[in-house]
Formats: sequence, structure tokens, C-alpha cells
Amino acid sequence: MRMTRTCVMALLAVATWARAAEQKKPEGEKHWGYTHGITPPRWGEVSPTCTTGVHQSPVALSTKQAKAQSPAQPLELSWNKVTGELVDTGHSEQVNLPPGSFISYGGTRYELQQVHFHSPSEHSVDGKRAPMEAHFVHRSADGKLAVVGILLKPGSATSAFAPVLTALPAPGEKRTVEVDLPALLPKSTRHFAYAGSLTTPPCSEEVQWIVMLGEDAASKPEIAGFRAKYPQNARPVQPLKGRTVEIAP
Ligand SMILES: [Zn+2]
Repeated sequence: MRMTRTCVMALLAVATWARAAEQKKPEGEKHWGYTHGITPPRWGEVSPTCTTGVHQSPVALSTKQAKAQSPAQPLELSWNKVTGELVDTGHSEQVNLPPGSFISYGGTRYELQQVHFHSPSEHSVDGKRAPMEAHFVHRSADGKLAVVGILLKPGSATSAFAPVLTALPAPGEKRTVEVDLPALLPKSTRHFAYAGSLTTPPCSEEVQWIVMLGEDAASKPEIAGFRAKYPQNARPVQPLKGRTVEIAP
């Protein structure tokens, strides 16, 4: 194919513009995303662990393949009714929470720090994803992470998620919200447990995952409100690579 001089000039102009745009970005800040910018298959460009990690999350959960936990790890959930700060991080809506709520799992105490949301759910159960998933991020005194994930299946009534999922703030805005944390828990704390990672860059590993199913967890309008703003902020499921997923009553 013969390239005309005009075409070459246009290409050079585009290349120069692209270089200029690249140089405008602050050093070290790469714009990862789900459907735009650096998408999940390329997150390794932001943090190598996202592609080289061997214990990545989310994963496909299977009630048939999960191993019954034996002996059962006591799971103590001690959440409070709190006032949090709702922010739009640009990747999700997140409520930063005051200290005092925690879980105890496997003999370790993890303090609840924040809750944020994904749409659709990141974990799948028996091949199905729920419309949304809430992630309650906990940290231990020595920096270990435990995330309680609740798959939100819609119900009809207004839920305890309403203050958080309605009237979402714009990027850069902050809003004070009352959150009744205990009311967000499913009736059954039956859960999947496995060793995984953060599901967003830097995809750090050694995260204890506890994933629950929330039937009637949020109302359809609440879910629709979040999805209008974030229709797709879920990472695809990652290979288990020999890990065992446990299921606990
Ligand atoms: Zn998350």
C-alpha cells in the first residue's frame, strides 16, 4: 500500500498529540479502568501482581466443588450502626467508616475500614453473577486484609443500603451517611472462604475472603441507582490455580 504525504503528516500529528497527552499524566499515575483506559487484562501495567499473582480475586465459586470447612473457623461479626463518609472514588462509591466495627476470623481481629460496591458482582456462584456485590474491607493490626463480600440479589422493600445507594455524590464530593451495618448482613452467614487478592490494582495478595449470599439484600431501585452510575466495575473471575475454596455454615 502506498502512503500519501498527507497521510504521513496526519500520522505524525497524531503521534505528537498522543505523546503530549502521555506527558501530561503525573509520573507514576496510570489510569486503570474497566471499559476505558487500562482495562483488566492490562492491569499488570499498573501493578505487575495483577498478572503475575497466583492467588488473584475474584473467582468462580461453586457450592458443589467447595470443601466443607473442617474444623469450622469461628466467624465473629461485630458491626455497629455508624456515621460514615460517602465518596465517589472514580472507580466506585465508597463509605469510609469510623473505627469500632470488626470481625474475628481464624484467631485474628480485623477492623472494618470501608465498604464499596461492584456491578455486576465480581464473584460468581454456580456460574451466576448477582447484580451487585458489596465489599467490606477489614484490616488487622499487622496489616493483613479480610474482605467480607456480600452478593446483592434484589428484593422489593427499601433496604438498609438505601442511604448509601440513593443520592450518590458526584466525583470529588463527600456526603455524610448513617449506615446501619448489622442490618446489611444477610440472615444466614453461611459463606465461602478462600485466600485471594484485592480485585483492583495493586491486586495485592494475602487477602482473606469471606463471601456471602444476600437474598433480598437491596431493592431494585437502589441497585438501578448505582448501576446507572457504575454499570460495569467488576473484574473478570481469575483462575484458582490450585486453591481450595471452603464453605462454612
Ligand atoms: Zn471491591
